[in-house]
Amino acid sequence: MIVAIDGPAGAGKSTISRLIAGRHDWTYLDTGAMYRAVTLLALEQGIAPADGEELGLLARNAEIGFQPGPDGSPQVFAGCRDVTEEIRGRDVSACVSEVSAHRSVREALVEKQRSIAAAGDVVMDGRDIGTVVCPGADVKIFLTAANRERARRRRLELAQKGVEVSQEQMERDIAARDDYDSRRELAPLKAAAGAVIIDTTNMTIEQVVDRVSGIVEKQLK
Ligand code: C5P
Repeated sequence: MIVAIDGPAGAGKSTISRLIAGRHDWTYLDTGAMYRAVTLLALEQGIAPADGEELGLLARNAEIGFQPGPDGSPQVFAGCRDVTEEIRGRDVSACVSEVSAHRSVREALVEKQRSIAAAGDVVMDGRDIGTVVCPGADVKIFLTAANRERARRRRLELAQKGVEVSQEQMERDIAARDDYDSRRELAPLKAAAGAVIIDTTNMTIEQVVDRVSGIVEKQLK
């Protein structure tokens, strides 16, 4: 069973995907974390976000992996280094869209993502899972929510890590990222044909999980 969950920043994709994967003991793959890890390495190595050739090499050679942390949430590794926290920083968030728009980067990471999906029973979240990475996914969901609410959720997440960002700034940041991700030529952010669109603005996490689970269960029968 392949479950594809796409949508803009802060729509709740990773939380919902993780919970759905946990319910069935399936693999959860956060593809955004892979683009973020490449972006972090590029920033550290002084590779410009516009340098598609170098970024492609970096993405191809990067050993990005996931392991469950103490609370069960996935930790992200670049080689043997735990980069879970660093990839969520604002500098990475500010450059990740430009880095991930390069064909070279996408080809390298999509290949890795498809080989993980080939093992079966996986919930993958991202921007292009239902459209490009796994167009034959058994279940396709497009999660969205009002910009204000998505910004509020991201601020809460960051505040828990001691990072304070104003609501206005966060709304601007995610709007800019969504705009870039939606307008790019390759694999733009959009709902796949046949995807179930769920607006989570006024829904609790439990309600969204129940809704997605219902769709998955129906497919399993
Ligand atoms: O999901 P997250 O917000 O962590 O993703 C970070 C960025 O990675 C997105 O804004 C997008 O530019 C890129 N991305 C992508 N394709 C995916 C997942 C993420 O281009 N499948």
